[in-house]
Amino acid sequence: MATKIWDVIVVGGGAAGFFAAIEASKSGENQVLLLEKTNKLLSKVKVSGGGRCNVTHHCDYASELIQHYPRGGKSLRKGFEKFGCKETRKWFENRKVPLKVEADGRVFPKSDSSQSIISCLMDEASKNDVQLKLQSEVAAVTNNGTNFLVKLTSGESLQSQKIIICSGGHPKSAAYQWISKLGVNISQPIPSLFTFKVPDSDYKDLMGLSVPNAWVQIPGTKWKQDGPLLITHWGFSAPAVIKLSAWAAIDLHLRSYQFPILINWCRETEEAVKGALEEFKKQHPKKLVKKQALFAIPSRLWERIANEAGIIEEQRFVDISKKNLNKLVEMLVRHPFKVNGKTTFKEEFVTCGGVDLNEVHLQTFECKKTEGLYFAGEVLNVDGVTGGFNFQHAWTSGYLSGKSAADSLAK
Ligand SMILES: Cc1cc2nc3c(=O)[nH]c(=O)nc-3n(C[C@H](O)[C@H](O)[C@H](O)COP(=O)(O)OP(=O)(O)OC[C@H]3O[C@@H](n4cnc5c(N)ncnc54)[C@H](O)[C@@H]3O)c2cc1C
Repeated sequence: MATKIWDVIVVGGGAAGFFAAIEASKSGENQVLLLEKTNKLLSKVKVSGGGRCNVTHHCDYASELIQHYPRGGKSLRKGFEKFGCKETRKWFENRKVPLKVEADGRVFPKSDSSQSIISCLMDEASKNDVQLKLQSEVAAVTNNGTNFLVKLTSGESLQSQKIIICSGGHPKSAAYQWISKLGVNISQPIPSLFTFKVPDSDYKDLMGLSVPNAWVQIPGTKWKQDGPLLITHWGFSAPAVIKLSAWAAIDLHLRSYQFPILINWCRETEEAVKGALEEFKKQHPKKLVKKQALFAIPSRLWERIANEAGIIEEQRFVDISKKNLNKLVEMLVRHPFKVNGKTTFKEEFVTCGGVDLNEVHLQTFECKKTEGLYFAGEVLNVDGVTGGFNFQHAWTSGYLSGKSAADSLAK
């Protein structure tokens, strides 16, 4: 019996794989098979956003969207112009998944449940006659000049005209070995999106306290990020730290996650902080420094910072010496800590690294070296900060690769 030749095989049953398969099927016209190595589909979608699925971001312009990708950046612009956040929202809303935008721009299903997204994708795959094959791990893909030969770890072999690899990220290079045999270059995979461990921190007992806007920087480098900052029982977390971990991911990996940081608790310049303290001193000379938390810093944290600046209990603003004031400013804008290690952020992480973007055409995600071979989603060397950006790249590259595969089959 002749082996069936699928029009398109999609490897990986995650966000990118589903979008690629649905689009490649062209409303059921093409025969599409999706292979998933585990016995679960869309498992990351399920747990994403704390079970709510932060499906994309409210960002109408590609030029703005690309600012949120430490790897990918400008290269993603054309793709986002074709299928960006607006198109993603329309795609789900047209399929009866109402979405909502939160104050910080993150977009979630109105149901606050990732199951709405999963049900929509499963329904759409079924409507488009996408065949789903679970517990089917791809071990090797070769090309015989006409078709792709796909070998599973079970020993089974399959064939297709086009193949879209959406196997996601992985922190170990070994997971990419079968892909590198296709002749594409792979940047070393390492973790992105993590929190900082500060084992020697004297501030751990203040866990749970946060400031609304801090700057965290790594001295001697260009790495500096702002946003909310949370003191945890292991060190620091929240957007300022998570964003920094993503932008500096390669550098921090090279330093084995041991590096100094400077915290500016109020995200103000030294001059502005000094000016504000001097003005406060003029206006309220008799107020006790330790009891007068400024710059939206919680009072227990303020007291601790003032302590480190050498301010004593009964010291009033009028009593502050120039030396004390300078020390207080220093502690507010350049508070040093030593990071030693990392932990995951609410179990959310992505891989920095993967198939190099210069291996693919950026508007179709087709491999430059091999016609009919596509890569989409986190398997590519693309990662975003938190906020829905990682899914957005999965939807964009999944959609455009699936569409290109379907269009080229029609020729
Ligand atoms: C806990 C958590 C929460 C997250 N929350 C968010 C969020 O709210 N918003 C956001 O934008 N991003 C979030 N992310 C990141 C986001 O989930 C990923 O970037 C996105 O899922 C990537 O989609 P993908 O389809 O490329 O890969 P994946 O979702 O990882 O899917 C890849 C699939 O391929 C399968 N596979 C791998 N190798 C093979 C093989 N050889 N053969 C067959 N199948 C294979 C895997 O089993 C997997 O099912 C979160 C990540 C985590 C871990």
